[in-house]
Amino acid sequence: MAKIAIDLKSGSIKKEDQLIVGIDLGTTNSLVAYIQNGEPVIVRDPEGQSGLVPSIIYFHPDHSVVVGHDARQHLIHDPGRTIFSVKRLMGKSYSDIASYEHHLGYEILNDDKDRLVKVRVGDRFYSPIDLSAHILRKLKSRIEEALSKPVEKAVITVPAYFNDAQRQATRDAGKLAGLDVLRIVNEPTAASLAYGLGLSPEEQKTIAVYDLGGGTFDISILRIEDGVFEVLATNGDTFLGGDDLDNAIVAFWTDKYGLKIANASDKQTLRLEAERAKKALSVSEYHTLDFNGQPLRISREEFEALLEPFVDRTILSCAAALKDAHLKPANIHEIIMVGGSTRIPLVKSRVSAFFGKQVHDELDPDEVVAAGAAIQADILAGNRKDLLLLDITPLSLGIETVGGLMDVIIPRNTKVPCGYARQYTTSVDGQKNLKISVYQGERDLVTNNRKLAEFILSDIPPMPAGIPKLEIRFQLNADGILQVFASELRSGTTQSIMVKPQYGIDEEEMGRMLLDSIRHAETDMVVKALTEAQNEGRMMVHSAGKFIQQNSNWLEEDQVGEIRRLTGLLNEAVDTGTKDEIQTSIEGLNAYTTPLAHRALEVHVAGAMRGQAIK
Ligand code: AMP
Repeated sequence: MAKIAIDLKSGSIKKEDQLIVGIDLGTTNSLVAYIQNGEPVIVRDPEGQSGLVPSIIYFHPDHSVVVGHDARQHLIHDPGRTIFSVKRLMGKSYSDIASYEHHLGYEILNDDKDRLVKVRVGDRFYSPIDLSAHILRKLKSRIEEALSKPVEKAVITVPAYFNDAQRQATRDAGKLAGLDVLRIVNEPTAASLAYGLGLSPEEQKTIAVYDLGGGTFDISILRIEDGVFEVLATNGDTFLGGDDLDNAIVAFWTDKYGLKIANASDKQTLRLEAERAKKALSVSEYHTLDFNGQPLRISREEFEALLEPFVDRTILSCAAALKDAHLKPANIHEIIMVGGSTRIPLVKSRVSAFFGKQVHDELDPDEVVAAGAAIQADILAGNRKDLLLLDITPLSLGIETVGGLMDVIIPRNTKVPCGYARQYTTSVDGQKNLKISVYQGERDLVTNNRKLAEFILSDIPPMPAGIPKLEIRFQLNADGILQVFASELRSGTTQSIMVKPQYGIDEEEMGRMLLDSIRHAETDMVVKALTEAQNEGRMMVHSAGKFIQQNSNWLEEDQVGEIRRLTGLLNEAVDTGTKDEIQTSIEGLNAYTTPLAHRALEVHVAGAMRGQAIK
């Protein structure tokens, strides 16, 4: 029976200690954990010993839904209604996932390539958020049954590379499952906490977290100092994991034995057999089985030959992450292994050889992230001294300025949470509205970057060009969600927008965007310089026109004629010339107008003095 405590002083009912659970929402398996007597406890199924809930959902034709092990068994006979690898679909559009759609046994709706994907089961459609919510509901009820009390608050982990959209989708799934998601935490940070790293304030360490799960690979380099976690660099591949190894074994057998795969059910049987073989080969030298009367065999040596190129890719990612963090393998103090696929002996030995150190594999690699999430939840519940978790933003965030240039407000690799502001002004007299377009990416021209949002700052009081003080502030919270504020400081007009970025960017695309920015750096610089010269030229033409207007009382006719001729040349250069031709025209106009500007100043000062004298 639950106990109720009454505060005798106030007469109010005291709330029970709040329980916040930690959830590892994985591609292949999910887990839920909580803290008991200061230690993480993984909630296991009532019968078996396993804490893993397969991230699989089965939609029964009678519309009932089962999740986990019960769903997994339907993969073979009813693949079209059995949904797995949902995490790969989070925040993705159809065009993002088209390349590996054939690995999924179920139907992805393909009506609009750029819209968020939906899964079709019979006559119903489900978004990845709906599907993840089913998994989260299962975890919620599992822990509620285990503890015999309701659970409403959770911390959910996501890969370090998840972008804003994917984090937001994860949050939404939590909400849909009836959970108040207090924090989205990066998986490598959780894994470090599980190993007790970062829990004592005097600790100073650099850690590599190597996470090879069922569907994704992540390498993260973390720095712990003064009880603060900072992600120095991350790298990875959403399309690399245990599933790929299973597929490689299927391909190996199909090729070696000339197997004919008659239907989806055969395909799934073979996939499950491949996974069984892979796991067996972590401990034995070879594995045999019977598939539709055909004996199949694979040796560890053959498997390792298939595995080698995948491990090579992960090691390249490790090297890239270290390079980004400006570190060498020897600078890493601890290496943590996460994800079921790190049980493979060759994976452990290759990672250990690369870093020149023994890896941490004392804890169950499937459980470390959930255990760490529970520790983070405990910290949030106020049961531990406050630890701050810092992450970095993987791509630069900025706005479009005149000429389509990208003006970066938060540079890539900035620690979050953070806030930065920049001031701008108008380029047209009496401008009332300002369109703010928010972009993500490393290229100088916004057209090559990714548009996240657009909004209008309206009601700017009419003022001459250059007078309004427009401040754009970017606030990035600990979950990596961006809020943009725009204000006109003289009048106090303010508007803000929560940026829910367009869905559909993933690590691969992020990597591509970074590579593109390097590949195109030179041409980008040329275009940027030309655009800047054009902007400057247009401003000069505009100011020269104003100058003639404001000084018509004393300017000679031939002076006006010469300014008009020079602005005409400049206009032409802006429209059709190179950056240097524009610069030459700017200098020509400048050289002629500078003495006139001095003269104008004298005229104005003299006028002002006269005014004073009359008074
Ligand atoms: P996760 O996403 O962390 O749950 O990782 C699960 C992946 O680890 C799946 O692809 C499993 O097939 C794989 N896995 C689990 N145990 C082993 C093992 N003993 N040897 C090789 N792979 C394993």
